[in-house]
This record gives sequence, structure tokens and C-alpha cells, in this order.
Amino acid sequence: MDATVDEPGTLRLSPKQMRSILDCYRVTSGKGFRLKNYDPPADTAGHLLPRAHANALLAHGVERLAELQEKLYAQDRWAMLCVFQAMDAAGKDGTIKHVMSGVNPQGVQVTSFKVPGPEVLAHDFLWRAILALPERGRIGIFNRSHYEDVLVVRVHPDILAKQRLPRELLGKKLWEQRMDSIAAFERHLARQGTVVLKFFLNVSKAEQKRRFLERLEEKDKHWKFSSNDLAERAFWDDYQRVYQEAIAATAAPHAPWFVVPADNKWFTRLIVVGAIIEALEALDLRIAAPTEAEEAALAAARRKLESEA
Ligand code: ADP
Repeated sequence: MDATVDEPGTLRLSPKQMRSILDCYRVTSGKGFRLKNYDPPADTAGHLLPRAHANALLAHGVERLAELQEKLYAQDRWAMLCVFQAMDAAGKDGTIKHVMSGVNPQGVQVTSFKVPGPEVLAHDFLWRAILALPERGRIGIFNRSHYEDVLVVRVHPDILAKQRLPRELLGKKLWEQRMDSIAAFERHLARQGTVVLKFFLNVSKAEQKRRFLERLEEKDKHWKFSSNDLAERAFWDDYQRVYQEAIAATAAPHAPWFVVPADNKWFTRLIVVGAIIEALEALDLRIAAPTEAEEAALAAARRKLESEA
């Protein structure tokens, strides 16, 4: 499978080529899933996606995504939800910024899931995710998501206490039940016309350290560093374990996970834009031809405008 390099030296991938690259990172079933067996964070799909062509490929992907988003918006039937989860400094924000850089802002709804306040804590854990769901015709981006309730909350039991669940419900099965709820929620969304894609940006511990140090050393990156990030780094292995379980419990053909190598930002971005394009291309995003009555109304409007003095 060789990618083609066309005349001006720009590499293009066919949908089939892109699909087989995406297949390396796509998880559609939890059976036998092991996070540590996944392609290493530094992977870049070898010669198929050479670094030299990354910018041109990304620019092409961003343009294609913009065309598809316009059709999604005009057709106004399907919605898309892209969930981004990752350890700190894995590049969620940069990926969202670059991948979405070409789309019409009116068609995209980005929600960042922060430490919950009292209103959120007074509800069940899916409540704020439901409120933030994209409307038909829109792409919703969750920067962190409902998954935090089976990740950070699981790693830190004191956070669970703040959720004020009745004591009778805090049994051993709590996490399994939450993951079941998430799987059922996403199946429901898929059945209602929301395409669900989930990205785990898989950064290595060594690369996280390098990026933290960079944030500490460069003045204009200081704002990105929080001492809480360092505290969470100490729980690295716990997070890998809960991520592994959450991905295994919720990976499905209608709500796939992509375990995206994240040590090379250019590669992360190409995989994410490729996965979104592939999912949108699988929809029949045609703008319906006007009905006879609509045609007549358009013709009448044209006549009215033309007859204006
Ligand atoms: P980010 O790290 O995504 O760039 P912030 O630095 O504002 O953004 O961090 C948001 C924090 O909110 C993260 O530490 C995340 O774990 C936390 N968070 C998100 N959802 C929940 C939740 N349901 N319960 C507790 N903490 C949460």
C-alpha cells in the first residue's frame, strides 16, 4: 500500500489507504483490548505518513472537513460528537484547534469539562454531557467528557464523595454500572442520528515530562502549566488502568475509540482529521432537492424580487 505523490510533490491518500492506517488505532470491541499492546505513542505509521508531507496533508484534510461540515449543516439530519480524552499535555487543545481550523464556527460546539460546580454535582453524572450534546447538523467537541466520571473520579475516591450518591448505591459494581450507562447512552445517541467518535490521545510518560519542562522553561507557555498536572502525573499507572477499562467497556462499532499515538503532534492531528472525515464520508450527506412546492415558492420569491421597482 503506497501513498501517491502527485505532480507538485503533494502526498495524497485514498480513503482506502487512510482506512487501513486508521484501523491500526481504531477500537470497536473491548474483547482482548490492552492499552499497553497498542502502537507506541511515538508511532507515525512508518513511511505511509511521512513527516515531510504532514502540513500539506493536514491542510488538505482541514479543507475536506470544511466541505463535509457544510453539507452536514445544510442537510441538518445527522449530528457528530467527538470526545477527546487524554493525560495532561497530550495535545487535546492543539489538536482541536488545528483540526477544526477550517470549519464554520456556527456549525461547531466545543465544550470543556472542568471540575464540576454545585449545579453539576446536584445531578447524575451524564446530565452535563446531555446538556452539551450537539444539535442536528452540528459537530460537538467534548474536551474531556462524561468519561471523567470513570477516570479522575475513580482514581480519586474523595471526588466521588462530593457527588453525594446514596450510600446504598456505592457498591463494588459502581464503575461497571457507570461504564454500562455510558455505553447505553452512546448507543442511544447513535440510534438517534449522532455519530460518536472517541479519541484517546496516547502520550508517553517521557513525552509528558518533556512537555511539562518546556512549559516551565518557556515564559509564554507558563500559563499552560498547573501544579495539579504534576500531582496527577504521580497517578500515571492508575490512569492507564482506568483508561484501559473504560475504553474496553465502551468501544463499539457505533461508538469507536481511537487510541491515537500522541508523542508527535503532527501525526495525532492527521489521525484525528482522517477519522472525522472517514465518518462523515460514510454518511450520505446530500442536500435534498427542493420539493415541487418549495420550487414554486422559490420561483415566486424570485419573481417578487425581480418586480421590485
Ligand atoms: P484541561 O486539563 O482539560 O486542559 P483544566 O486544566 O481546566 O483543563 O482541567 C480540567 C480538570 O477538571 C481536569 O483535571 C479534570 O480531571 C477535571 N474534571 C473534569 N471532569 C471532572 C469530574 N466530573 N470530576 C472531577 N474532576 C473533573
